[in-house]
Amino acid sequence: MQETTADADFLLDNLFFAQIEGEEVQRGKVHVKLRVKKAIHACELNFQIEGVVQVPCDRCLDYMDVPVATNEKILVKLGKTYGEEGSLIVVPESDGYINVAWLLYEFVSLAIPMKHVHSPGKCNKSMTGKLKKHLRGGDDDESSEDMEDLDFDRSGDSMDEPVTDPRWDSLKDIYNNN
Ligand SMILES: [Zn+2]
Repeated sequence: MQETTADADFLLDNLFFAQIEGEEVQRGKVHVKLRVKKAIHACELNFQIEGVVQVPCDRCLDYMDVPVATNEKILVKLGKTYGEEGSLIVVPESDGYINVAWLLYEFVSLAIPMKHVHSPGKCNKSMTGKLKKHLRGGDDDESSEDMEDLDFDRSGDSMDEPVTDPRWDSLKDIYNNN
């Protein structure tokens, strides 16, 4: 059994992300190192992915840089029809090649953390202001007043803490004296 290896480098840039028309990532600069191990019946493809993508911040919707770094491995085999099974991909013999563009896009989007927000204070202020106004129906009250209102409601809620009845206090004294 003869094994050969090949290496290839890709740069996924803004053009790549624009052309692939994925929803999650539309901009970025990601380097991909591909190592191919060829065997007689299958190819093993190792992708080393590292770079930065720009996705909307969860809080202010402005684009923000999110670093991505991941390693992915797939096996490619020739077969009659196209098929995917876990990390095994069957490529039709008539085609004889695999288009890795969508795979790469998926690897990159999977590497993005679920939550991505700017670090504190870095959000687009005009945007967060607009969002706040929108959420609160356009009134301009400061949020600190809301907090005070909440505190007031809480202290007025008698269910939070057990009410101390003076009669039980005297009962306690009896027990303590025994
Ligand atoms: Zn933000």
